[in-house]
Amino acid sequence: MYNPKSNKAEEFISDEEVRATLEFARANRDNTAMIDEILAKARLENGLTHREAAVLLESGKTEEIFELAKKIKQDYYGNRIVLFAPLYLSNYCVNGCVYCPYHAANKTICRRKLTQDEIAREVVALEKMGHKRLAIEAGEDPNHNPIDYILDSIDTIYKNGSIRRVNVNIAATTVENYRKLKAANIGTYILFQETYNKKAYEKLHPTGPKHDYNWHTEAMDRAMEAGIDDVSIGVLFGLDDYKYDFAALLMHAEHLEAAFGVGPHAVSIPRIRKADGVDPGDYNGVDDAEFAKITAILRIAMPYAGLIVSTRESEQCRAGLLKLGVSQISGGSKTSVGGYYESVDLDTAQFDISDKRPLDDVIYWLIELGYLPSFCTSCYRQGRTGERFMEICKGQQIKNFCQPNAIMTLQEYLQDHASPETKALGENLVEAELKRLGDEKIRQNVEKIKSGARDLIL
Ligand code: SF4
Repeated sequence: MYNPKSNKAEEFISDEEVRATLEFARANRDNTAMIDEILAKARLENGLTHREAAVLLESGKTEEIFELAKKIKQDYYGNRIVLFAPLYLSNYCVNGCVYCPYHAANKTICRRKLTQDEIAREVVALEKMGHKRLAIEAGEDPNHNPIDYILDSIDTIYKNGSIRRVNVNIAATTVENYRKLKAANIGTYILFQETYNKKAYEKLHPTGPKHDYNWHTEAMDRAMEAGIDDVSIGVLFGLDDYKYDFAALLMHAEHLEAAFGVGPHAVSIPRIRKADGVDPGDYNGVDDAEFAKITAILRIAMPYAGLIVSTRESEQCRAGLLKLGVSQISGGSKTSVGGYYESVDLDTAQFDISDKRPLDDVIYWLIELGYLPSFCTSCYRQGRTGERFMEICKGQQIKNFCQPNAIMTLQEYLQDHASPETKALGENLVEAELKRLGDEKIRQNVEKIKSGARDLIL
């Protein structure tokens, strides 16, 4: 029985409700009156239910949807795009996920776990590029990657320089371990569902602790119980029926709101990619046009959530998705273990990267496209998390923090890391943004940054 408030996976992601939603959406794909009503509700910019979003996905109103998604992103977050990088700590894994080259039975991949010294080296390399926000990633392996290893790694990252926010993407774990992560000052806890379809999930994860659908699906409830109130969800689009996962992803967000009063801080939209032993052709796939529509409707349905696209996608695809509401991207990423420090790319990567440009090229490109690149990490450091963040964000006030922080962190980047071309282009943008903002204090802060001050945040 469907119950968004329930703490049982099979009730808040009720298979019956997902299937009824898909049937309802198909039945109303040409129901112009209903679609117009949903679009009118969407224009209020307060989000949509999973059923309404599913109807839009079936509808032919693509242009209206794209326009609206763009407007909502602008109204909530302004033109800033937050940058981050993944940091792969270890690719040891005991699970059997058939679509991931880290799976335990893969004997061709080179296994590696970074030592704390190697992590410090990676951090220095990432800082040299200009990154301030990392997402750490590790396979699930209680012997190689126990929680203490993850905690030590977080400590190493924070202690070795100026990385200001560490988001953590590790396997579903216990409330006790989530408490430890919270105490280690993580930013967001990230866990992708891969697919919400239980039967498909169990088949795709035949062995290892991840095989337990309920344990995995209820992970965010345990994280919230442990006090982590910024969580990031996502599915691997194309693994199974993307329409099923699209509806269920929104149901998961509705569950978190219903049960904890806080929806997901961010939503990632990865698509299955080629990797060692993984051929996307073996799966269902999502073409670019449909992927764009999914992205835009997620923005409309969850206006408050950060929407993240990684370097799995090509430059061209990312440019298209940025117009549809994406608000965070990775840049200059390496998906191999130790890939930032070492120039030789060992065969340890989780997936092939499409957008291989260095970070500076990505920053230049964003500015040219009319965006304001941001290295902001301010909210969680200023206590704007969970309900507090949602209150500000849903009131469309968060951009009043995002824009000044973006200007100040971009100025830092221009001072410390940018190429001459990016610096010239970026300084024009900072000046234009300062004029638009008309805030004397932020202008003074930018001057202080030019004179050497760092980490001035709102
Ligand atoms: S102000 Fe908060 S929401 Fe805006 S970019 Fe910074 S951390 Fe993100």
